Amino acid sequence: MPPRIALYPGSFDPPTNGHLSIIQRGLKMFDGLIVAVLKNPAKDELFSVEERVQLLRGAVNDKRVQVKTFSGLLVKFAQQEGVNAVLRGLRAVSDFEYEFQMANMNRKLDPEIETLFMMTGEDYFYISSRFVRDVARLGGEVRGLVPQNVLEALKKRFK
Ligand code: ADP
Repeated sequence: MPPRIALYPGSFDPPTNGHLSIIQRGLKMFDGLIVAVLKNPAKDELFSVEERVQLLRGAVNDKRVQVKTFSGLLVKFAQQEGVNAVLRGLRAVSDFEYEFQMANMNRKLDPEIETLFMMTGEDYFYISSRFVRDVARLGGEVRGLVPQNVLEALKKRFK
């Protein structure tokens, strides 16, 4: 059987412990993961795409996990990588509508690609990259919400 690999896409600006939890749990279901960082220049970008890739690599450090970047359609990137499973995390009901639409749109674009959802653990449901960015920017404590290397990068950025 060929190795079962899933794509875990997102912005990861910055990577949080919520993301890491999905990666660790995803590795129990798949032989490997491709963490795919979306190159989508957002107005309130904190770390560049290259910085996010480095932060993810530093935080994960597991040879079953590759970190890559992509732009454009997710299904095209999945086809390019020869992967037909997309892994996403679900935090709250508010995530559901968008995720449901996106999963269906992606299935319409390529019926071979399935999206799988993992519900977040009770320790992580309130963590989002956006809140981490905002709290860190305002000088709040984000220890425990992000991996150590991200904590250091945030401290440096907002010193
Ligand atoms: P965010 O929504 O925090 O900016 P991303 O776009 O980088 O994050 O999210 C990538 C994927 O990780 C999405 O499927 C998102 O739902 C999931 N995710 C983000 N934060 C968490 C969390 N705390 N627990 C579980 N999944 C999460």
